[in-house]
Amino acid sequence: SYVITDACVDVLDRSCVEECPVDCIYPGARMAYIHPDECVDCGKCLPACPSDAIHWEYKMPPELELFVAVNAEFVAEH
Ligand code: SF4
Repeated sequence: SYVITDACVDVLDRSCVEECPVDCIYPGARMAYIHPDECVDCGKCLPACPSDAIHWEYKMPPELELFVAVNAEFVAEH
């Protein structure tokens, strides 16, 4: 799935939400999160983000890999 990372924090632009065809992007208080089981890997959210906060899980910069779990944990709790 695609994953939202810390570049979204306090930006929360939400352009990605408009682009997602399956409505699997969930805004939280300070950033948005992608539901890993609902994401269909279409990639449409990626160019919509003004902060370059979205990455494909298999091409994550190593220092951002923790956000795979951050996204999954948020949607599991909400
Ligand atoms: Fe939604 Fe597609 Fe982005 Fe997944 S890759 S979050 S399905 S827009």
